[in-house]
This record gives sequence, structure tokens and C-alpha cells, in this order.
Amino acid sequence: MDGEAPLSTLAGVGPRMTERLGRLGLVTIRDLAEYLPRGYLDWGEATSFGALRFGQEATVDCTVERIKLRPTRRRNLKIVEAVVADAAGSRAVALWFNQAYLVDRLPAGTRLLVHGELEPGRGLPTFKVERHEVASDGAGLHTLGLVPLYPATEDVSTVKLRELTEQALAKARWFPDALPADVRLSEGAALRADALAAVHRPERREQAEQARKRLAFEELLVLQLGFAERRREREMGAEASALGKPGELITRYRAALPFTLTPEQEKAIAEIDRDLRGVKPMQRLLQGDVGSGKTVVALYVLLRAVERGHQSALMAPTETLAEQHFLTIDEICRTLGVRCFLLTSSLSAKEHASARAALADGDADVALGTHALIQEQVAFRSLAVAVVDEQHRFGVEQRRALGAHAPHVLHMTATPIPRTLAQTVYGDLDVTEIARPPKGRRPVVTRWVSHERSAEAYTRLRKHLKEGRQAYVVCPLISESETIEARAAEQEAERLQKAELRDFGVGCLHGKLRPGERRAVMDAFKRRELDVLVATTVIEVGVDVPNATIMIVQEADRFGLAQLHQLRGRVGRGAQQSYCLLVSRPKEELTEEAKRRLEALVQMSDGFQLAEVDLEIRGEGQLLGTRQSGLPDLKFARLTRDRELIARARRWAAELLERDDEILQPLEHELGRLFADADHRGFA
Ligand code: ADP
Ligand code: MG
Repeated sequence: MDGEAPLSTLAGVGPRMTERLGRLGLVTIRDLAEYLPRGYLDWGEATSFGALRFGQEATVDCTVERIKLRPTRRRNLKIVEAVVADAAGSRAVALWFNQAYLVDRLPAGTRLLVHGELEPGRGLPTFKVERHEVASDGAGLHTLGLVPLYPATEDVSTVKLRELTEQALAKARWFPDALPADVRLSEGAALRADALAAVHRPERREQAEQARKRLAFEELLVLQLGFAERRREREMGAEASALGKPGELITRYRAALPFTLTPEQEKAIAEIDRDLRGVKPMQRLLQGDVGSGKTVVALYVLLRAVERGHQSALMAPTETLAEQHFLTIDEICRTLGVRCFLLTSSLSAKEHASARAALADGDADVALGTHALIQEQVAFRSLAVAVVDEQHRFGVEQRRALGAHAPHVLHMTATPIPRTLAQTVYGDLDVTEIARPPKGRRPVVTRWVSHERSAEAYTRLRKHLKEGRQAYVVCPLISESETIEARAAEQEAERLQKAELRDFGVGCLHGKLRPGERRAVMDAFKRRELDVLVATTVIEVGVDVPNATIMIVQEADRFGLAQLHQLRGRVGRGAQQSYCLLVSRPKEELTEEAKRRLEALVQMSDGFQLAEVDLEIRGEGQLLGTRQSGLPDLKFARLTRDRELIARARRWAAELLERDDEILQPLEHELGRLFADADHRGFA
């Protein structure tokens, strides 16, 4: 019995039920045994009628003395009444509604567990039966102790699921246990079958949670083992260039920066430097909130390759961002004598050819671009370092393509998530964090403004403009089409130019502009020829204009939490106090979630903290499901709750990897199962 037998082998599961269960994702016995209760009712022990208060819900163990159909005047109402007596000799009249067949099913002498409520009656008290079970060995599934509640549907009830899991659990005793015995012993972990039994039929709630953790540990161990194996495969045969210690170019770079690096940045650099010294290709994730100073670190890494006579590349998720990086990076590179090229798919054929030639024969040191850089098989003379900005936006394919070159890779993300979580979500990467921004940065003052008062928001914005500062206005998110969104942004820019922002220079930035136009707008804004940038979310990442100190987000309730935080990160980049005004539709019209998002933004400025709130609001399924589509579905682990388990699983995975294949076979089998689905979705 390996658990893979279909559910139709269970009693009471015919073709119709098979189909209904299938819709719940339940196909095999094992699926069912692993279908966790969403909670438990606690009905305690059986009691006696004499011990009950009126109105109290309880279960009584009793015997039927007489049973009959009570005459009623209403045709469609059938009442079955039975005089029942418990072991202590107290009696009650048990009532069932519209279940006339029970008269024959429960003849006098039948021993029952009845669950329901006691009410006063004429003579004997009445007991309205909500659920009953014929007492026999193992009865009480629905009426005694902790009664599991399953995620049910209209056509598969929680009661049915209780009965079926009962059968599945009996078979689960024979499922193989994948945890190697020594791991189980040293973790004090129960046998898998016992854990499954405890999670479905716990005696105490703590037992259920403990059992879930046992199952989660195994699941996480399998996951981490999978990551470790993939990582090992990737490293096998692939050699990167050892880049030694930082040299003269890095010294000049540090001197050219208008500030000294923060301790957080230094720590990140030290971790990266350790990787760069070896030939094992770096695979590191650099997490840091918006504005925490990741770009400075990225450039450091790019230059480390250049000073050893190699090349490096930075890839951004959009052309705007690539161009934006180019503007900042090229400026410093020029002063250092480093040759920097922008290569995007929108270059003219001639420009493209010459940029490619420069990369191929080594005339270019640093290449910046979108994933076009690798998609179009650009040949580098010697690519030693690649930085991938906002890596979660990159598909698996891009990561894989990069792997072929075997450069050291630094992935950067401005959507930080807690470290242990990162180790699961990006399990095959090492994680470095920049936890604090440069000193002297003042948190952006954030206000939630209801729509009716948006005029005041614009008054505030004009005040900033009159003081020589610049501003952003973010247009509502229109998910249907980028074209519609772009047009709406243009119209809004025109409208504002004629109305609220009459006396100021207004520019518009959206995803439908041609690269040249976009660059012109950005340059004009940087040079302060424009005071206000009306934009779609294309400004979400990377735009860096420290003189911009105020942002209005229209219909902010439509945006996600992380997205708003990213948008807000466009201000507060200089020494001036900055503001972010979130204009929403009237509060009464907002969902609870939208209100919680906006409140969180007003109260918090730390991205890690906000990431936790975001997780809470959306549920981890969302986070993992939509954005990091590569992660397999986890049945038992709760990533927010099980951080400590993740760390333990990761340690064990590293150790187990060194072992005999034979001992690992059961785990390998689990691995295949876990990733089968994810692979289908393109996990690398
Ligand atoms: P991120 O890429 O993490 O969003 P950036 O690297 O763009 O952040 O840095 C945000 C701003 O902070 C930039 O204007 C940058 O010049 C500035 N900055 C970066 N590091 C420091 C530092 N150590 N001290 C002062 N300012 C810094
Ligand atoms: Mg940045």
C-alpha cells in the first residue's frame, strides 16, 4: 500500500464521488490522508442529560427506549421522537426533523451518541439532535472530543470527508516513512503514519499542531534537499572566474562616491567578496528595501570583474529601468575610465550591431540592458559577473540561460522578505541583506487622503513645487491593458497641466512610450526642466531623483502593498523631508484588505515589516503562488509560522546530500512528487 491507490478503492466512493473529490484535488488515498483539517470542534466527553443546562450543546451516550413518528399537521414536516435514557438513568425526548426513515433504523435498544441541545419540554426535557452516531467501536468520530472540520464543498461535506479520512488513515499505516531513522530520532519526530493520525484525530489541540509540524518538517526537508541538489548540479562543471581581492579600480570607485558606504553595505560587500574569490559561481540574492543602497553595491560587483580584465552585465526587468541604471552607472564609469554600454532590444540595427561587436571583442566592459542581453545570444568576450535586478520578475529561463555562461550572479530584489522565508522561496540562493538604509534618511511621511479631500493634496504638492522641489503623480492602475493605462495617464497629465498644475512643467511617463521619448522625459525631469512627472507604475522601480519630495498616488486602494511601498520609494531619496499622499476612493467603498494596506503604509516605513503585513493580509499562498511561481505547493508547512523548521530542514538537507544514495531514495521519491507539479510550471 503505497498510498497511490485511487480513492475509488475506498468504501462509499463511486464514480460521482470520485469526480467530486477530484475537484478538491483529491485523487489518491494519500491525497486524502494528507488533506488537513482546517480546524476542530471540541465536543469533549459524552455527558448525561442530568448534567446538562438548557441551551448547552453537548454529546450524550444513551439508549433508545421507544421511537415513533410524531403526528404533525404540516405535510412537509416530519418529526421523529424517541425516548432515550443515558447510563445514569436520566431520560429525554430526542427529536429529529425530516428524517422519518430513522424510525426503522434506530429501533428500541439501539445505543446512540447524540449531539445537540437540551431544551425544556412537557414532562421530559427535549433534546434536539444535530448529529447522531450509532455507538460501536470507534464511534464518536462526529460527536466526541476534537472533531475535525475539513475544507469542504457543496457536494463533498465535512462529514463525508471525516468518514473517508477514517478509511484512508487505516491504510496510511502502511505508507513508507521517508525520513531517515537517525534524522527522525535526533529531531524527536514521530512516525509519519502516527503524525497523520494525530493531525486528523488529535486528543488535544497541541497534538495536532505538533503533528502538523512533523509533517511540515519532512516536507521542508524534501524541498531543501531539492534546492541543494539543483544547486549542486548547477555548480558541477561550471566554473566562474576567480576574481581575487579588490584592487586599484575599486579603490578609485570608493573614492569617487560622494559618500562612504554604510556598515550594512560593507557587510554585503564582504559576503560577496568571499564568493568572488572562488571559482564556484556565486548565486547570491541581495535583498534590501527601496533606497537602501543596493545599486552602489551592484556597481561594486560589476567593477570587480572589470578590474580583472573581464566583463560584467546588469539586467533589469524593463527598458526604463535599464536606461535609468545606465544614466547613473555610466556617469561614474566615465570618471573611472570604464566603458559602459546600453543594449536593449529597441536599439537600431546598426547601434545594436556595434554594441554587440564591442562586447564580443572586449571593447565594452559593462553591459546594461533587459533580458535581451541574454535572450539574443549576445556574445561576451569574457563575462565574469552578472547582476540581475528585481530577480523575481525574471523567469526561470533567463536564470538558466545565464547559468550557461557560468558568471558569478548577484540577484537583487527590492521586495525583501524575511530571511528564512527567502531561504525557502529562493532556496537555491545564498541570501544577503541590507537591513537599514543610509543614515540621515528620514522616513517618508505618508498620509491617507480620502477622495473628497484630494484638492488639499494638490495644494500641498504645489507648495513643494514652489519651493523648487519636484513631484510625482501616479495614475490609477488599469490592469486590463497597458495601452488604455497609457492613454489614461496622458489624459490625466493634460488635465492636470490645465487645472491643478497650471503653472508648472508636467511630463508624462508610461510603458507605451518609445525608448527615445522615455529617455527624453526622464532626462528633462532629472535636469528639472519638468516639475512633475505624471506616471503609471513604470516609475515603480529604479527612478532616482533626490529632488523629488512629494508623490500623490491616485486611487491608491487599487494597488498592492508591496507596489505602493515601491512607488513611495521614489521619494525620500534626498536629505529633504518627503511626503507620500495616498488618495483613495471613499473609505466606505473600500474592502477591509484595502483599508489594512493603506493603514499599514501610513504606520510603517520598513519594507521587511511591510512584507510581513502583506503576508498576513494576503496569505502566503498568494505570495508564493503568483509571484514566485516556481515554488511547489506546500501542504503542511506554514512559511510564516515555521521559520525555525525551515532553518533546521536546510541544515539537514546540506548534511544528507553527502550521504549514500540508497538512504536517500525514499526522500528522492518524495522530491519527485513534490516537484512534479512545480516542474510542470517551469521550476529550475
Ligand atoms: P536601491 O537601489 O537599494 O533602491 P540606491 O542604491 O538607488 O538604492 O540608493 C538610494 C539613494 O541613496 C541613492 O541616491 C544613492 O546615491 C544613495 N546612497 C546609497 N548609498 C549611500 C550611502 N552609503 N550614503 C549615503 N547615500 C547613499
Ligand atoms: Mg535601485
